[in-house]
Amino acid sequence: MDKALMEDLKDSLSLAINARRSAYANCSKYKVGAVLATRNGKKYTGCNIENSGIQAICAERTAFCKAISEGERYFKYILVVGAYEDATELDKCLPCGYCRQFMNDFVDEDFKIYAMNGEKIEEYTLKELLPHAFKL
Ligand code: ZN
Repeated sequence: MDKALMEDLKDSLSLAINARRSAYANCSKYKVGAVLATRNGKKYTGCNIENSGIQAICAERTAFCKAISEGERYFKYILVVGAYEDATELDKCLPCGYCRQFMNDFVDEDFKIYAMNGEKIEEYTLKELLPHAFKL
């Protein structure tokens, strides 16, 4: 991983941690933050938003919906952080199956997914996490 990308990911990590603070996780108490980086250098944050009556929306889809609704279509990576609200450390938190399939419509094969493993940032491709994806 080159130095410029590492610096960029550190910036995204602090944005994701901050976005996680806005999570509305009244049911699970599991709070997630995400940062979606576009190919033109913009970043969109998201948090999970649960609801007692209907299905929750994950941090990843929140970030995608914010970006797509602003006209963005070209994405570089998403970084995700998550943990229970009273945790002192982040879990290794990867997008759920629903989010993987959702983002598949909007990204190329080289799209990266970053997750924290302790202090270390781990890199995945969507293809690794969603082999044989459904595509129209
Ligand atoms: Zn999800």
